[in-house]
Amino acid sequence: TYVIAEPCIDVKDKACIEECPVDCIYEGPRSLYINPDECVDCGACEPVCPVEAIFLEEDLPYEWTAFAKANAEVFDTA
Ligand code: SF4
Repeated sequence: TYVIAEPCIDVKDKACIEECPVDCIYEGPRSLYINPDECVDCGACEPVCPVEAIFLEEDLPYEWTAFAKANAEVFDTA
């Protein structure tokens, strides 16, 4: 699954939402979140993020690995 990490906080550009073919990116109070149960791993969202906040879970920088769990918890799928 793809994961939205720290750079999105208080940015929420939403370019990714336009790109997602399955509409699995949702808006939270301070960040956008990807529902891991709905993401089809197409990768369309990743290059359009202006702050490079989106990563394939396996490719998350070490300091942001906790964001995978944080995204999942938003949807209660963790
Ligand atoms: Fe949506 Fe594809 Fe990004 Fe998953 S990888 S959140 S399906 S655009």
